[in-house]
Amino acid sequence: MRPFTYTRPAEPARAWTELGPDAMYIAGGTNLVDLMKCGVATPTGLVDIGRLPLTDLTPDPAGDTIRIGALVPNSDLAAHPVVRERLPVLSEALLAGASPQLRNLATLGGNLLQRTRCGYFRDPTMPCNRRDPGSGCAALDGDHRGHAVLGTSEHCIATHPSDLAVALLALEARVSIDGPNGPRVEPIEAFHLPPGDTPHRETTLTHGELITGVEVPTTALGAHSHYLKVRERAAFAFAMCSAAVALEVREGIVRDARIALGGVATTPWRARSAEAALIGAPPSSAAFAHAGDAAAEGAVPRRDNAYKVELIRRVVARALNTLAAPSTPEVPSTPEGDPA
Ligand code: SF4
Repeated sequence: MRPFTYTRPAEPARAWTELGPDAMYIAGGTNLVDLMKCGVATPTGLVDIGRLPLTDLTPDPAGDTIRIGALVPNSDLAAHPVVRERLPVLSEALLAGASPQLRNLATLGGNLLQRTRCGYFRDPTMPCNRRDPGSGCAALDGDHRGHAVLGTSEHCIATHPSDLAVALLALEARVSIDGPNGPRVEPIEAFHLPPGDTPHRETTLTHGELITGVEVPTTALGAHSHYLKVRERAAFAFAMCSAAVALEVREGIVRDARIALGGVATTPWRARSAEAALIGAPPSSAAFAHAGDAAAEGAVPRRDNAYKVELIRRVVARALNTLAAPSTPEVPSTPEGDPA
């Protein structure tokens, strides 16, 4: 047990003034406490932000966005009637992640900041550029069956673990941030950083900044959306591949499309070439297969994860087919069957 200080401010401005140079914020703690137990995170202090007023879950009066506070539990967000009705991909992605107990505790902000599940990252005895910059990457020639094929670098091939972030990317959400230098808002697509040669930098947050919430547009596109997650077991597992898809179809033609991938890339991954392949085409199985092919373009597999390239094609095509055929929906993820 390593000693650390603990404070629990009630105002955001107190949070960053109380955060020492080697301290960290904690909210639900479902990821950080885990990493402290295995010796990956070793903060000298914890600033518990659980009492900050960041629990709002408010549709904009004009009806075109919903504002979600950073401390809204994943379970509350998944069950909110506006989310279920107008942003089904968001609710489905949340119900596909973790267990009911974890979703009750895990927060929106923490979900976006969760660390990779790469086994070498979680083992302090192994080389890992993300945990210990410059030490190497044990996964490159090691066990990388579950690792990324998109957005990789020679320094890190770890996948981003969040389902929620993939859905928010497809919905073009904006992340609200506050900290010592004042508030700012950023598109979620820019928030998560690819590993490049600095895999230890995972987001644009600087020390002292925290996520205060997310704004999600509630458009017709978002209302016609779906999340499909493929995993190795039926319950409580991270994605081998997932797809958040949304379609706007008028007069028999796809007018707009969003496709984002999880479990196959180092960040939540927007498949823009797949979207471009669909727009202007009739919503057919052939067009969806074509979009799946486009989504896999640029994939760089290694020895044991080449199966993910074909998996991307099939998951994207299947998610789009399901979305376009609402009379024959997939069996939804349920808390009982749980998390996926
Ligand atoms: Fe570390 Fe990334 Fe390599 Fe995993 S893939 S060992 S997280 S550098």
